[in-house]
Amino acid sequence: MAKRDYYEVLGVSRQASQEEIKKAYRKLARQYHPDVNKDDQNAAEKFKEASEAYDVLSNAEKRESYDRFGHAATDGQFNGFGGFGGADFGGGLGDIFDMFFGGSGRARRGPERGADLRADVEVSFEEAAFGLEKDVKIPRTEECSTCGGSGAAPGTSKNTCGACNGTGQIQFAQSTPFGRIVQSRTCDRCRGTGVIIEKPCPTCRGAGQVRRTRTIKVKIPPGVDHGTRLRLSGEGESGLRGGPRGDLFVFIHVRPHEIFSRQGNNVILEMPVSFVQASLGDEVFVPTLDGKAKLKIPEGTQSGTVLRMKGKGIPDVRGYGRGDQHVHINVVTPTRLTDRQQELLKEFAKIEGQKPRSNEKGFFEKVRDAFMG
Ligand SMILES: [Zn+2]
Ligand SMILES: [Zn+2]
Repeated sequence: MAKRDYYEVLGVSRQASQEEIKKAYRKLARQYHPDVNKDDQNAAEKFKEASEAYDVLSNAEKRESYDRFGHAATDGQFNGFGGFGGADFGGGLGDIFDMFFGGSGRARRGPERGADLRADVEVSFEEAAFGLEKDVKIPRTEECSTCGGSGAAPGTSKNTCGACNGTGQIQFAQSTPFGRIVQSRTCDRCRGTGVIIEKPCPTCRGAGQVRRTRTIKVKIPPGVDHGTRLRLSGEGESGLRGGPRGDLFVFIHVRPHEIFSRQGNNVILEMPVSFVQASLGDEVFVPTLDGKAKLKIPEGTQSGTVLRMKGKGIPDVRGYGRGDQHVHINVVTPTRLTDRQQELLKEFAKIEGQKPRSNEKGFFEKVRDAFMG
């Protein structure tokens, strides 16, 4: 028995509103409900039919599918259509199209930007501070110079594909259980490019691109640090189908220095001084990025004191002046004393013991207080 049209079942027009559909269904449901029509097979059938119709027409998505494809779209089963029997399309129309056409049609691809490339460059501490120009070798794809990227051998030309008229897509009509549907697929004569190369370029074999190792001069600005990333616009892989080149990213690696380290734009130098220099004060020469420079150690300098040498640090990479050099003083206790030195130190200790006491509590007094409560 052929299935009745859902609109016909509910007795409404194809333009019926949701409200009208609901009303019509309620009326039928009341009329044919199994509770009021006990043992009436006909009424049971009618109730089932009305419920099914209401289920589809009350749902906007299901109703639209039904309007376009009739019962085939909403039955859930395609019994009777050879090849599709038993397939479940419960998910709606999207599934049906995917099943028939393998997803949405692939459009011809346009210009594509080339990929970015990465290069790693190792520099010394001083090179990072003052900058330099470095040659970097990178393998990358480039436009073929023989054919200028066209892929056609010199003297020959490439023509618009006759099969697809240069669109790269072939339109075709297909008969489906729902009627004839126009679809498109990638042209297989030109493989979607829209052009036919009669004689491929001998250098790139028609690809229009070649692989080449290039030496690129990279300008490393003063003040770069370990991990700084420089971007060289347009020095990456060449684009496809007329697309722009990608970029080249240069990652800086700074070799550690023997005596200097870095904190932001400041250079750190750990410097040992003798306890005599620290006590009496001194004037010494210390290494800096600019060579030896004079540094005054004040009288009575403690271990751990930081002496600042202004402007002797690393230039700011954005050009905002220069950092300082921080000299961390490390007072060294002598280990091997001569007899004479020992003698002098013992005498020093004796004098130290006679020194008048200051009002301030000394370290050892504080310790004693802490233990004795
Ligand atoms: Zn070529
Ligand atoms: Zn074609």
